[in-house]
Amino acid sequence: MSSDSEDVVVVGAGNAALCAALAAHDSGARVIALECAPRAERGGNSAFTAGAMRVVYNGVDDLVALMPDLTETEINNTDFGTYTTEQFFDDMARVTEYRADPDLVDLLVNRSFDTLQWMRSHGVRFMPIYGRQAFKVDGKFTFWGGLTIETVGGGPGLIESLSDECQRLGIDIAYETRAHSLILEDGRVVGVRARHKGETMEYRAQAVILASGGFEANTEWRTRYLGPGWDMAKVRGSRFNTGDGIKMALEIGASPVGHWSGAHAVQWDMNAPEFGDLAVGDNFQKHSYPWGILINNYGRRFLDEGADFRNYTYAKYGYEMLKQPGLGAWQIFDAKVGHLLRDEYKIRQVTKVKADSLEELAGQMEGMDVNSFVKTIAEYNAAIDQMTPFNPNVKDGRRTNGLAVDKTNWANTIDEPPFEGYQVTCGITFTFGGLRITTESEVLDTDGIRIPGLFACGELVGGLFYFNYPGGTGLTSGSVFGKIAGTSAARYIEA
Ligand SMILES: Cc1cc2nc3c(=O)[nH]c(=O)nc-3n(C[C@H](O)[C@H](O)[C@H](O)COP(=O)(O)OP(=O)(O)OC[C@H]3O[C@@H](n4cnc5c(N)ncnc54)[C@H](O)[C@@H]3O)c2cc1C
Repeated sequence: MSSDSEDVVVVGAGNAALCAALAAHDSGARVIALECAPRAERGGNSAFTAGAMRVVYNGVDDLVALMPDLTETEINNTDFGTYTTEQFFDDMARVTEYRADPDLVDLLVNRSFDTLQWMRSHGVRFMPIYGRQAFKVDGKFTFWGGLTIETVGGGPGLIESLSDECQRLGIDIAYETRAHSLILEDGRVVGVRARHKGETMEYRAQAVILASGGFEANTEWRTRYLGPGWDMAKVRGSRFNTGDGIKMALEIGASPVGHWSGAHAVQWDMNAPEFGDLAVGDNFQKHSYPWGILINNYGRRFLDEGADFRNYTYAKYGYEMLKQPGLGAWQIFDAKVGHLLRDEYKIRQVTKVKADSLEELAGQMEGMDVNSFVKTIAEYNAAIDQMTPFNPNVKDGRRTNGLAVDKTNWANTIDEPPFEGYQVTCGITFTFGGLRITTESEVLDTDGIRIPGLFACGELVGGLFYFNYPGGTGLTSGSVFGKIAGTSAARYIEA
């Protein structure tokens, strides 16, 4: 069956896709989005997020432009600091070990602020992330780690705003419609073949924008590209991101690029379900580890929990879980830091033990070497530089010395009961490898030539993230490149 021809078909209806659809519509194109999920599970990974978005701002005036609802009291009681172009560049370069494509990073950084303003014009609202990214210092909230704003209503709020806007503007979203191949005629992409309730449909268009996410929900591809063990990871978000967009493009000769054996993966509750649960959102994550320590079932520490702010370590520490016996570890805290634990530690579906002695605590952990556990904590306590004060707002340098694995910031003794342990495994967020695009979001083939009519944005673009990732960049990248892809596709069909 063939549908009416559109100007632009967008594959997916997450953040990147909806931004692409709106941008193409802004430029005068008739647009349809195909989404394989049913409406009740719409929004892809974007719907699972807290809506945190990394954006350049040079002071509070920029934040007021994005959040005109900020009150005088909020402004007076908060030290927002700045997050300059240089800081964003440095963060991208540093955490990706200087591999990130500089041209793509240039766009990501320099277009971040304007793109968020444009999203506001399409009904998206922002607010400060007081809960997760700021601590009170001398009565004033102080932000740290370059991540300051989130969308109102988190990921679900973001998707609702963008989807409502599409509906208002007459952009159709066809749910339960899984695109499976591109239609190629005379070397140009002229549409998409898709399945809807068992029926094959052809959606013809002058341009196609792929925005259907990575391959994190595809067990076979995870094992094939990320490597052995990754089949055992839990998927933090959507069960629908199985790499279809990437596969469709590779089938017609698109060039793969980026860190194909790399992925964003975090510490995630050991007993979380196979895929994300929208009712729990991102609350299976356990991201307060910088205030405690991690111990595996051999009773040993194995990484520097305080290497950097959470925003710069959390995305690479998921993989460390897969390397541990039993594919996980325990996060250990004592009463001193209990007040610093994020809300996600208080959910009903948490794998937790609590006790008044360390022996008793370890005894409740199945498979744990209790003697080694207790010895490790004694050695850790003894190695802390007690002269340096603890300060969670800065990299405080309060560290251990002389351990096989030192903790280099925020090292506190673990000696004040009650003690708590939270069991974590690897939760994969998204994959890093993807399609090679130009700065206009055009997909390139393996000869480095643009594939006429084919554009891409969001998670399925390769070349931006390697090894690691600065928190809050996925949504910003989806929005920036979504807007570019939509604008470019509309320009292409006019030419
Ligand atoms: C639990 C969790 C928390 C996160 N928190 C944050 C955060 O706070 N800030 C941040 O920046 N990033 C966060 N991320 C990462 C972020 O979700 C992604 O980087 C971003 O949402 C990717 O957007 P996207 O539009 O490319 O993909 P998605 O939002 O996943 O959208 C892809 C869409 O394509 C659809 N699709 C797939 N295959 C097909 C097909 N064949 N045909 C039709 N449709 C198809 C999917 O169903 C999906 O709706 C988080 C991720 C998770 C899982």
